[in-house]
Amino acid sequence: MAPRSGLKLGTILGIPIYVDASWVFVFALITYSLGREYAQLHAEWTSTQHWALGIVTSFLFFGSVVFHELGHSVVAQHYKIRVISITLFLFGGLARIERDPSKAIQEFNIAIAGPLASGFLASVFFGLTVFFPQSQMVGAAGTRLWQTNALLALFNLLPGFPLDGGRIFRAIVWGATKDFAKATRIAGASGKLIAYVMILLGAYGVFNGFVQQGLWTAFIGWFILNAAQESVSQVAIREALAGLSAADVMSYEVPSVSGNTSLEEYGAEVRRTGRRCHMVVNGDRLVGMMNVHTLNSVPREEWAHNSVQAAMIPRDKILWTSADEPLLKLLERLLTADVNQMPVVSNSAEGDTHIIGIVTRDSILRVMQTRSELGPLAASR
Ligand SMILES: [Zn+2]
Repeated sequence: MAPRSGLKLGTILGIPIYVDASWVFVFALITYSLGREYAQLHAEWTSTQHWALGIVTSFLFFGSVVFHELGHSVVAQHYKIRVISITLFLFGGLARIERDPSKAIQEFNIAIAGPLASGFLASVFFGLTVFFPQSQMVGAAGTRLWQTNALLALFNLLPGFPLDGGRIFRAIVWGATKDFAKATRIAGASGKLIAYVMILLGAYGVFNGFVQQGLWTAFIGWFILNAAQESVSQVAIREALAGLSAADVMSYEVPSVSGNTSLEEYGAEVRRTGRRCHMVVNGDRLVGMMNVHTLNSVPREEWAHNSVQAAMIPRDKILWTSADEPLLKLLERLLTADVNQMPVVSNSAEGDTHIIGIVTRDSILRVMQTRSELGPLAASR
């Protein structure tokens, strides 16, 4: 949920392009294996030619992955869905979009645009090998590149989450059944099946002498398995929190503590009441927030001669929510900021804000758990 970062390469069509640290390793590995391959196939070239073409081919391979992601991005932007970033990582690329498409046909078109872009590049590189038959270097690089792009298109069309084919599959089921959650579960299950097949095939390869290819296949299968599980559980969370806002789970009781209380006394108060979070006041004025986590960050021997006011989260650092904030968005903010609770504030007619309650991570998890025990309700759709 936190934005993926890494080394920023530049911006295309307003979309920042990042590379994950793992990509440096992939780039070196691909360049090395291409250089070796060219050296074996064309012993008559100089070694500078082998390695220079290896580097150029790697860059074009890398450009091909960006082109694939731009394919998805252009269609998403056409539907007014903002593309936050494109990141290249160990297993290819990822275009992060701001929200899921709202219609099955939009998801279908966004998903299929990537494989179509790769298919287009495959035919361009194939064309180069046909139209420049006299150049061995163009022929060698063009062959690798059209094959890689064709493979990229075909592999991504496998009908299982999180691959593009899985999204296409989900869009079709979604369109047919009008049930997004069910479609995701089916595409997720199919993604897991594909992952298990890849892991088994990989293991079979390893035991039959194809160690490198086998390990690589199994590794990608394992990655798909994790991603499929993650997308299914994300939808489960979304389903469980659908239609709820902060007001539904907030506690109206907001305990407070005076700023000059010692941490020793505060610790005793927490132990006695079991309340884990307090607003800190000086007289009538709210000055900050104090909780068990903050208390524990102060060494035990300093509790006696430190006050709550010295250790608390100051007022301007507190993250607030409002009663109508959707719970899913609030949970994402809690997780991103790594905090356990947020006070709920309301704006009165006179324009001043006051605290009306508090939402904790626990209260959100409790409602998720309860809802999953009860199963989906007709009313919650
Ligand atoms: Zn794709």
